[in-house]
Amino acid sequence: MGTIVVVEDDTNIADLVDMYLRREGFRVIQAGTGETGLAAIERERPRMLILDVGLPGSIDGLEVCRRVRAKQTLPVLMLTARDGEVDRILGLELGADDYVTKPFSPRELVARVKAILRRSDGTSGRNEVLMAGRVEVDVVRREARIDGEAVALASKEFQLLQFLAERPGRALSRQQLLDGVWGSGWYGDDRTVDAHVRQLRKKLGDALPLSTVWGMGYRLG
Ligand code: CA
Repeated sequence: MGTIVVVEDDTNIADLVDMYLRREGFRVIQAGTGETGLAAIERERPRMLILDVGLPGSIDGLEVCRRVRAKQTLPVLMLTARDGEVDRILGLELGADDYVTKPFSPRELVARVKAILRRSDGTSGRNEVLMAGRVEVDVVRREARIDGEAVALASKEFQLLQFLAERPGRALSRQQLLDGVWGSGWYGDDRTVDAHVRQLRKKLGDALPLSTVWGMGYRLG
């Protein structure tokens, strides 16, 4: 099932999460601080990251997420103690894939882990590299490339790009994009889609033939 890095300073919670994930066949690496967490990600190349927001030391969970996002499209599930943090966690700045609020049931956590992995890996039997204009969308490595050069995208940005690239030439409404990329359980709005499209346009430029369909949404190609 692959390796999951769990960054959580509360050992009771970390051990519980660890136990439930192992039961599902995952290999689990625990880290108690942001620093050791980042080192573990670097070393282990995990399939996913579970990250507590409140961590001791100079790097909290939000900062770990930001640093991971700057480099790669590793799926991130955040553990938070306060609902007030949710907007930031799922927003553009951090772009985590999902979150659970403490106290949470380990079963729910496992279900969310699986859902995230299904969404991010839901590619079996499909073309491994899609072309969107001059952009190569590598769904196995979760990487976008222009002329062979990788472009750093946040996880949701990549998922949006992939969703569009799998439906070339089709006009897609913002609601379809929200449902397809964020999942129907997420209460986002049109601005979420627009903001991510802006990021894709900024990062991929002319190489991406993404047009706005007035009054509706977007079309690729
Ligand atoms: Ca904590």
